[in-house]
Amino acid sequence: MRVFGIIVGALVMASGLWGCSEPAADEELVVYTSRNDHLIKPVFDAYTEATGVRIRYITDNASALTARLQAEGERSPADMLITVDAGNLWNAAEKGLLSPVESVVLKNNVPDALTDPKNQWYGLTVRARTLVYSKDRLQPSELSTYEDLADPKWKGRLCLRTSKKVYNQSLVATMIERLGEEKTEEIVRGWVANLATDVFSNDTALMEAIVAGQCDVGIVNTYYYGRMKRDNPQLPLGLFWANQESSGVHVNISGAGVTVNAPHPEKAKALLEWMTQPAAQQLLADRNLEYPVNASVKPPEEVRSWGEFKSDDLNVSVAGALQVEAVKLMDRAGYR
Ligand code: FE
Repeated sequence: MRVFGIIVGALVMASGLWGCSEPAADEELVVYTSRNDHLIKPVFDAYTEATGVRIRYITDNASALTARLQAEGERSPADMLITVDAGNLWNAAEKGLLSPVESVVLKNNVPDALTDPKNQWYGLTVRARTLVYSKDRLQPSELSTYEDLADPKWKGRLCLRTSKKVYNQSLVATMIERLGEEKTEEIVRGWVANLATDVFSNDTALMEAIVAGQCDVGIVNTYYYGRMKRDNPQLPLGLFWANQESSGVHVNISGAGVTVNAPHPEKAKALLEWMTQPAAQQLLADRNLEYPVNASVKPPEEVRSWGEFKSDDLNVSVAGALQVEAVKLMDRAGYR
C-alpha cells in the first residue's frame, strides 16, 4: 500500500499539480499554497521576471498542506506556506511548521494587527466579513451590528454559512475576545433562532438565497459579493459595514510564512518581502477583489466603490488562539 501511495504521489506531481516543471537547482523556491492558480501564478511570474528566481508550487487546501508539511518534516522541499485565514496560519505556526522572520520591510509594509505577534506569518491581503442584505426588502438603516442579527426582529430573515467554515470560526473567536463567552453564546443562539433555512456551504449560495427571497440578510466576505456583482451589475444586494459605532468590521487575512525546514530561508524571506511591496500587492488585491495590507496601495476600484469602513483592530491571531473555544461555543449554541 505504501508503494502505491508513493507512485500515485509521483504521478500526481508529474501530471502537473506542480506549477512549473523541472525541479532542481538553487535558483528555485518551492511554495505550498491554498490560493488558486489564477490568483497566485501572475504574482509568481512577476517575481521570476523581476529576480530570475523560479517558483515551483502546489495548490491544495490549508489542512492538506499543513498535514503534508508535518509528514515531510525535515525532508520537506517547501520554502513557504501561503494560505487564507489567520486561524489556518495560526494552526500551522502552532504545529511548529513556520519560522519567525524579522524584517524591517515587513514591519513597514504589514500592520501589526495583521502580523503574527511572533512574526511566524504575515498578512498579504485583507478580507472583510460583513453584512449583505436585500435591497428590495430592507433599508440599510435597519442594520447595525453582527450582534443585532440575534434580535427577534430578524426571526426567519437571517441566512448563515456553516459554522464548519474557518471564516465563521474566526468571526466568533473575535466576538469572544471582544464580548466574552457568555454574551457571544447568547448572540450565536439568537442567530440560530433567527435562521430562515439550513446553513449554507458557501457565501455565494447564501447570497443567492437572499436574491431568491429565502432570507433578507446574511454575513459574507466582500470579495464573493464583488464576484457576484461583476457577473450581475443589477444584483439586488447591498453591503453594510457592521459595527461602525463599536468594534468595526471583522477583517481577516490571506497570508504567508517561511517554513521551519525551508531549504532556502533567505530567498523565501525575500519573496515574502516582495509580496508586500506595491506591485505584488496590487496584483494580489485586484485579482481577488481584496484589500492590500500595504497602506500605500489602493484597493481595486470596484472595491473602493463599496465605501470606506472602520475595521476591527484586534490582532488577527485571536482567530487562531480562540478557535477551539469558538467551535465549542457554536456547537453548544446549535449552530451547525
Ligand atoms: Fe474565500
